[in-house]
Amino acid sequence: MYQLINGFEFAKEERRKLKEEIDKMEKKPVLAVILVGENPASQIYVRNKEKACEEVGIKSRVYRIKECLQVELLAIIDQLNKDEDVDGILVQLPLPEGMEEQTVIQAIDPNKDVDGFHPVNLGKLMLGLEGPVACTPKGCLKLIKSVKENLTGLNALVIGRSNIVGKPMAQLLLKENCTVTIAHSKTVNLPELCKQADIVVAAVGKPKFVQKEWVKDGAIVIDVGINRLEDGKLCGDVDFENVAEKCFAITPVPKGVGPMTIAMLLENTLYLHKK
Ligand code: NAD
Repeated sequence: MYQLINGFEFAKEERRKLKEEIDKMEKKPVLAVILVGENPASQIYVRNKEKACEEVGIKSRVYRIKECLQVELLAIIDQLNKDEDVDGILVQLPLPEGMEEQTVIQAIDPNKDVDGFHPVNLGKLMLGLEGPVACTPKGCLKLIKSVKENLTGLNALVIGRSNIVGKPMAQLLLKENCTVTIAHSKTVNLPELCKQADIVVAAVGKPKFVQKEWVKDGAIVIDVGINRLEDGKLCGDVDFENVAEKCFAITPVPKGVGPMTIAMLLENTLYLHKK
């Protein structure tokens, strides 16, 4: 029987611990969140982040901007960089068309880069140095380690090479002494690679993409994908119903990786505040 990795409960416990620590602090951590445009999904994400901050005692300052020029956005980031009260800055992605994501990310002071997306922090991750680590992969690693503490020597397959999930995930697993393979849209032998993997992290964005026949018996499977089906239900990148029975442990969607991403955002805010 497989173990269901309950990210929802795990994240709740993480938030409880964070609140306990923050409650004791005289000066509370402050997170600035900038949302440009009216993307409905982003509006929900930002609201959820705001609520999560409130729950643990982090002060959030949310800037909801319907429309602005990139230079105006950069000016707001510059002000927040200089504001000593602000510990973390988050610009909700995706940005509206016409804005350059990298220019905006690189405008954030690396010491306030709560998402860990700045090249300085991605570089630190690569070098094994301390710094804020991207929230989703950080949460995934915690979930993996909740069922298996020592990952040394295991084969890990990361499916997806995005800068915010796949690449940092691969670095974190490498740091845990895994032998890491990164698969992507041009990979030709994915089922064979998957059959060798003790750990599979799927971050593709395709519903039920990872098939039962691909998965090794006793694997740990982490499903990052969030896909909306035609009937409105959410579904991951893994064919959970069929894959689960082969696994040692697997995350569901929803209530798997998603809640951990927000918990890690709170943890990163506290980390930057303490620094
Ligand atoms: P992305 O679109 O930036 O990257 C997708 C990756 O999948 C690409 O690197 C691409 O090469 C790879 N890919 C596409 N087709 C493939 C194929 N046939 N075989 C192998 N690889 C293939 O997406 P992302 O931002 O990394 O997000 C991936 C998924 O995770 C999405 O569903 C997204 O909604 C979800 N997500 C969830 C959370 C969370 O908190 N749970 C956070 C971020 C992203």
